[in-house]
Amino acid sequence: MHSAQTGERRRLLILGATGSIGRQALELCRLTGEYEIVGLSAEHSWEPLVAAAREHGVSTIALADGASAARAALAWDEGEVLGGPEGLVRLVLESEPELVLNALVGSAGLAPTVATLGEGIDLALANKESLVVGGELVTALSQATGARILPVDSEHAALHQLIAGLPAGTLERLTITASGGPFRGMSRAELAEVSVEQALAHPTWAMGGKITIDSATLMNKGLEVMEAHHLFGVPYERIDVAVHPQSTIHGVVTLADGAMLAHLGPPDMRIAIGYALRGGESGETGVRPLDLATLGSLSFEPVDEATFPCLALARSAAVAGGTAPCILNAANEIAVHAFLAGRIPFLAIADVIAATLERCPATVVESFESLYSADRVAREIATDALGS
Ligand code: MG
Repeated sequence: MHSAQTGERRRLLILGATGSIGRQALELCRLTGEYEIVGLSAEHSWEPLVAAAREHGVSTIALADGASAARAALAWDEGEVLGGPEGLVRLVLESEPELVLNALVGSAGLAPTVATLGEGIDLALANKESLVVGGELVTALSQATGARILPVDSEHAALHQLIAGLPAGTLERLTITASGGPFRGMSRAELAEVSVEQALAHPTWAMGGKITIDSATLMNKGLEVMEAHHLFGVPYERIDVAVHPQSTIHGVVTLADGAMLAHLGPPDMRIAIGYALRGGESGETGVRPLDLATLGSLSFEPVDEATFPCLALARSAAVAGGTAPCILNAANEIAVHAFLAGRIPFLAIADVIAATLERCPATVVESFESLYSADRVAREIATDALGS
């Protein structure tokens, strides 16, 4: 039975509470009153984190940045402040959540994902890098403990809902839609000149800095193809990407009989957040549905893979397997941060990733430790490649 019906509020921990997804999740908690917030974390924004902890009566918070944790501890004496990457894992283990929303950015989200699933706690996963990097190990851990992974990604929440309604054996293909980002239709020559501000101006979605740049390079779709593969167990050759500039259709499933089912909605993350927090059920979100009569036309086009090479880089790392997706992801994080800092031009993002994959041979994944180690080595090689 749904917890709202029993009058008991579900114990929720939010990792990455001050980012776009975390703030919208807190807003949803305010709106519905369905959750008791038992812990909150942020990277270094300790002031908004402490404010949110006060508002929601939270007794334990964590800051991944140790210096920010020390400042928060000085300013806030109403509860415990944990610090450093291990502080996030302690928060998962000690706050006794029934559900964790992981909205961390990058591969830093993997260790808390592992801690959550290892404890048998359901995971609302906005940190797609956990699946990109952790892949088979993360899904095996979820199967071993029975903890569910509910995607907080618009395309995957849409596909999850579509697939849940299908009889076994009828699913043929998945299609993930892509807005195309702010640079859709541009040539390589035009892309050579684009600024950080232009890359951050996404046409349909309001999101954090890293994912917005990933959307501009189309790396985001590459990561999402891997995310879909691990979530739904569909082979890579049966996962398609279609550019759909209106961001109205989020996911499509193709059935054995040739029919296709599509999931439509406004580009508003509250739908995916609400669906995941409710364990794959629909409920109030405050989102106004689309008005089909005023929607106008929906259009689709293929991805321009020659102009945007990141999607192909991601697909080949995905098919290679082992530590290749981990290496790709680490190189992408280094390159995107360098671009945001004005250190490399937009087109160099893909070059840094390709150079890192070339210099850093992929190996078999034996344990999470081999992933953490591949991540570290790939970051060093990518940082080195920034200069060349
Ligand atoms: Mg998405």
